[in-house]
Amino acid sequence: IDWTLEEGWHDARIVPYGPFQMDPASSIFHYGQEVFEGLKAYRHADGSIHTFRPERNAARLRQSAKRLALPELPDELFIGAIEELVKIDAEWVPAHGEGMSLYLRPFIIANESFLGVRAAHRATFCVIACPAGSYFADPTRPVSIWLSQQFSRAGRGGTGFAKCGGNYAASLLPTTEAYAQGCEQVLFLDSCENRYLEELGGMNILLVKKDGTILTPDSDSILPGITRDTLLELAEQDGHRVERRRIALDEWRDGVASGEIVEAFACGTAAVVSPIGVLKAPNFTLENPPVTAESVSMKLRAKLTGIQNGDVADTNGWLHRLV
Ligand code: PMP
Repeated sequence: IDWTLEEGWHDARIVPYGPFQMDPASSIFHYGQEVFEGLKAYRHADGSIHTFRPERNAARLRQSAKRLALPELPDELFIGAIEELVKIDAEWVPAHGEGMSLYLRPFIIANESFLGVRAAHRATFCVIACPAGSYFADPTRPVSIWLSQQFSRAGRGGTGFAKCGGNYAASLLPTTEAYAQGCEQVLFLDSCENRYLEELGGMNILLVKKDGTILTPDSDSILPGITRDTLLELAEQDGHRVERRRIALDEWRDGVASGEIVEAFACGTAAVVSPIGVLKAPNFTLENPPVTAESVSMKLRAKLTGIQNGDVADTNGWLHRLV
């Protein structure tokens, strides 16, 4: 769907997947004016196809677009595009089963041919799709994470809460460092004091206390994850207390040492829920307690994937039928 300042959103169309031509002076190439989303379509045992809380992705895309001075796409156009595309691509949605889905990547790019630092007068919204398995080979295996002490991902007043390419550009070098350290993900701290937990390169972070209370960072420079919100709602419905607040790295380390913190896990659309094993830093290593079938994170994971795959009742009305 194209957008121009004069005409607004217009010319919705579905075309076969393939390269598209862009002018080398297009704004996206020079100023990174771009936002995106990520969601999945799941096949249920009866063959029907559903997506999960797409209105949340539509709303987050609008918030991201606003921050990047891009046009906001109305929710009905966002959801309509997903509905139309998945209908046409239904054969690409994998068979029913945990971890298998059709990954959908909606995005908006600024494509005015204009060199100059101002919001572009032309943009295009696209959705691409591809079948996906689990993000990590064994979703219950704990991931290792590297603490980025030199770099932060986003600062106060910046674009951290938006899902824009530039945030990920900033996290690529720390991610490369994490890989060099034998870790799979990078953990960022706040940019002001370098002390409070923010998020991983592509997932939110949560801790579980001995009494079942779930802690997660409250920050306006992290991505407001839809998986995290959903898990916290499920946890509250199960009687867990939830605290969204600043969490110092030392609170995590001291909590593990004293036995007060019994689980650490990460979550996101791609990986769903991953327990965190080791946290590595230049000057220390933190070994988190091992996960068991009784772990809060594993129970929440089973519930969420069960709802998404249609095997657990969707009492919150989160599924959106596509086919
Ligand atoms: N933080 C970052 C930086 C991410 O890229 C993602 C994945 N989109 C998340 C958190 C989790 O968000 P969600 O649960 O909406 O996928």
